[in-house]
Amino acid sequence: MAPETALNDPTTPLFPLRVAAELTKTSVYALRQYVDLGLIIPFRTPTNRYLYSKTDIQRILCIRRHLDEYGLNIAGIRALFAQVPCWLVKPCPIEDCLTCDAYTSVIEPCWQVTVKGPTCQQADCRTCNVYRLPEKCQDLKTLFKTFTPTPNNSQE
Ligand code: SF4
Ligand code: SF4
Repeated sequence: MAPETALNDPTTPLFPLRVAAELTKTSVYALRQYVDLGLIIPFRTPTNRYLYSKTDIQRILCIRRHLDEYGLNIAGIRALFAQVPCWLVKPCPIEDCLTCDAYTSVIEPCWQVTVKGPTCQQADCRTCNVYRLPEKCQDLKTLFKTFTPTPNNSQE
C-alpha cells in the first residue's frame, strides 16, 4: 500500500498505547482492560507492542460514551457488541451461521468466538465492517433499521 493510501486508511495501525490513551483521555490501565476483554483488537507488532488505528480510537470513544453518558458497564458493552447481527453486516450465508458460535453467542463479540463459520475463519476482523461499526457509534435500533422495513422506508 502506498504511504499516502495507508495514512488515509482508518484501519492502518498508527498510534502506540500512550498516544491512544491521550487521544481518548482514557487511562493506559483501562485501554489494557478493553483489549483483555476483547472490546478492541489493536494490531500487535512482532515485538508484542500494540498499535491503534483511527478505527480503534473511534471504538474507544464510543465505549467511553456508553460508560460515561449511557451508564453501561464493561460487561454490558461487551454484551451489546455481541448482539450485532454480524451475518447481515458482513454478510455471510445461513450455512456459515449454523456452524459459527457467533450466531448464538450473546456474551462474546463475533471476533472473540472460538469456532467461526468459513466466511470468517481467515478474515481480518480489524478491517471488517462489523468491527468498524462503532466508528459511527450507532445504537442497535438505528442499525437494525438499515436491514428491516420501517414505516418510513417500506413505502419507498
Ligand atoms: S461466519 Fe460467524 S462470525 Fe462470520 S459473519 Fe457469519 S455468523 Fe458472523
Ligand atoms: S471478520 Fe471478524 S469482525 Fe467481521 S464478521 Fe467475521 S468474526 Fe466478525
